Amino acid sequence: MNEKTTEAPPHVKQFMPDTVPNVEKNIVPPGSPLSIKIIPERLSNVTCCPTATTALATSPIFESPILLVLPCKRWGCQVCRSQKIRALAFNIHAAAPNRLLTLTVDTDIDPNPEVAWLNTRDKPSELFRALRARKLSIEYLKVTEVTKKGYPHYHCLLRSDYLPQPVIKALWTRLTRSSIVDIRIVTNQFNAFSYLVKYLSKISSLEWTDRHVSYSRKFFPVPPSQTDWENDISTKITRRIDEHPYAYLTRFYYRRELTRLSPYRWLLNDYPTASENPVDYDTLKIRKPATQPTPMDKWLPDF
Ligand SMILES: [Zn+2]
Repeated sequence: MNEKTTEAPPHVKQFMPDTVPNVEKNIVPPGSPLSIKIIPERLSNVTCCPTATTALATSPIFESPILLVLPCKRWGCQVCRSQKIRALAFNIHAAAPNRLLTLTVDTDIDPNPEVAWLNTRDKPSELFRALRARKLSIEYLKVTEVTKKGYPHYHCLLRSDYLPQPVIKALWTRLTRSSIVDIRIVTNQFNAFSYLVKYLSKISSLEWTDRHVSYSRKFFPVPPSQTDWENDISTKITRRIDEHPYAYLTRFYYRRELTRLSPYRWLLNDYPTASENPVDYDTLKIRKPATQPTPMDKWLPDF
């Protein structure tokens, strides 16, 4: 039986999401290191997905509205890749895989790596369906890796019943005409974990796909989410903005101190309007203070 502990094991701890401060009421004390003055130079030191967009949201646990960073979540994005690995690694312990299956694609069959990938990408899931049809319980996480020549092969972490190698081999050969399959027992969760991190960390963007990892619906007891706010079901997005969060913050909160709760959540202390912002966003120059209307202005008709 898998030991269930509330404490994450040491090898998982280093990948735990950034700690979110105690956000119950009195939020974050003034002068906290989480307070960041919104100026572009400061923001450029804070790592963020370069193609993220913005959402404004509310959540009953915060007294102020919050800004959410919506990352692109692509493997090709360096920032999102490391967050995705972190989210997967954090959850792998709970998924308790017990087997590692490697499915190899024969390089003589297809004319080039991309065709080999197109012809085989759906085959691992077909293989698992066939095994399930034989009343075998099987949940998987599939990682697509490429060999030096660029041909894909599939590493699958499984949580499954005993799987006879000859059966898998026969099925894989029928599906892909390739016959090399390797199945081994995962006795040490740490090995499964370091395997995952090792392979995923060196993945570079493949030209023809951004889908490096997929997993069956029940593989993770709790689906890994890259952003902490996705786990807070009380979060209600009120508006989505097609602008980078840091651009948005500079535009509306220039020189204000805001609290960065996590890489994906900022506390907005108030709702300024564009005209209140003392800085013109396009030129980044200080605006002249708005002139107060004279009493006479009030009586001028609108044209
Ligand atoms: Zn990204």
